[in-house]
Amino acid sequence: MSDIIAFIGVGNMGNPMATNLHKAGYKIKVFDISTEMQIKAKENGLETVNNINELITEKVSIVITMLPEGKHSKEIYLGEDGIINKVSKNCLLIDCSTIDIDTSKEIGKAAEDKKILMIDAPVSGGVMGAQKATLNIMVGGSVKAFEKAHPVLKIMGKNIYHAGKVGSGNGAKICNNMSLGITMIAASESLMLAKRLNIDIKKVHEIMKNASGNSWPIEVYPPLPGLIEGTPSNNKYKPGFSAGMMNKDLKLANECAKTVNAITPLGKMALDIYSKFCEEGNDTKDFSAISKVIGGDAWDYPIK
Ligand code: NAD
Repeated sequence: MSDIIAFIGVGNMGNPMATNLHKAGYKIKVFDISTEMQIKAKENGLETVNNINELITEKVSIVITMLPEGKHSKEIYLGEDGIINKVSKNCLLIDCSTIDIDTSKEIGKAAEDKKILMIDAPVSGGVMGAQKATLNIMVGGSVKAFEKAHPVLKIMGKNIYHAGKVGSGNGAKICNNMSLGITMIAASESLMLAKRLNIDIKKVHEIMKNASGNSWPIEVYPPLPGLIEGTPSNNKYKPGFSAGMMNKDLKLANECAKTVNAITPLGKMALDIYSKFCEEGNDTKDFSAISKVIGGDAWDYPIK
């Protein structure tokens, strides 16, 4: 473990993921363009550096990125000052960001041209999963790259899947999050209907958890407060996973559905609902705050 892991993007997800690697004994250095995030990382005992040039030295054997969108990954890997031209040949590149399949493939191809191993490895499980190291990690890349990355991924996640070649990790993740967006809206509709019917929401929640209406939003991440401790709905909808990120993922799903003529009417409807919510200035709230739209005048929970 004498080599260094370079971790770029220590936001809501990256910070706990990097912290778990640090706690497991890996030598890790991190960088984020946000000063606030650099400070939070230091508070968690992580060593921060001031820029990418300071981060990527010949001692770095693994680079992990956890960035918001494809444009950020593209800039970091392939931009003018891109790390693809800075890392050594035996360095493994792991992009954990949820991004479009084409950008993943483009980064993968550029890495392959330089004989550098690269995987896309987006994650599912939210901030709680990142903190508890119980993430599901979906990998796209060669078997060789998957096997090399596995020990490190196993520190950050519980279930590590090899989905196929580069881009397949994000393909799997996009399919997953389309369902997540739809089921978050469905959970909101059911719980708000219960409220309007004057049935105790706690009871309906308990019933749904054990009945056929269960889903991840119902069981783990309910969109209304007072049901499960530690969820964003119990913390004034502070993310967590922002509505803006969900909107991005639903856009990715709808765009790639078009390219393969997939029929995804609920995916399109979920995108319309989240897009409007974000346009109205709610993009930095947790995505479970979509219950506000569903609840209408019956929704009376704290939100800033
Ligand atoms: P975030 O916005 O909290 O973190 C991203 C970080 O990247 C920010 O701190 C930002 O300052 C940093 N960044 C952006 N450009 C940079 C650059 N050029 N150099 C260095 N740092 C840069 O986002 P997040 O919630 O941690 O999500 C990260 C990714 O993980 C997204 O693609 C998201 O879709 C995915 N994801 C998030 C969750 C979740 O629950 N939050 C769950 C699964 C997957």
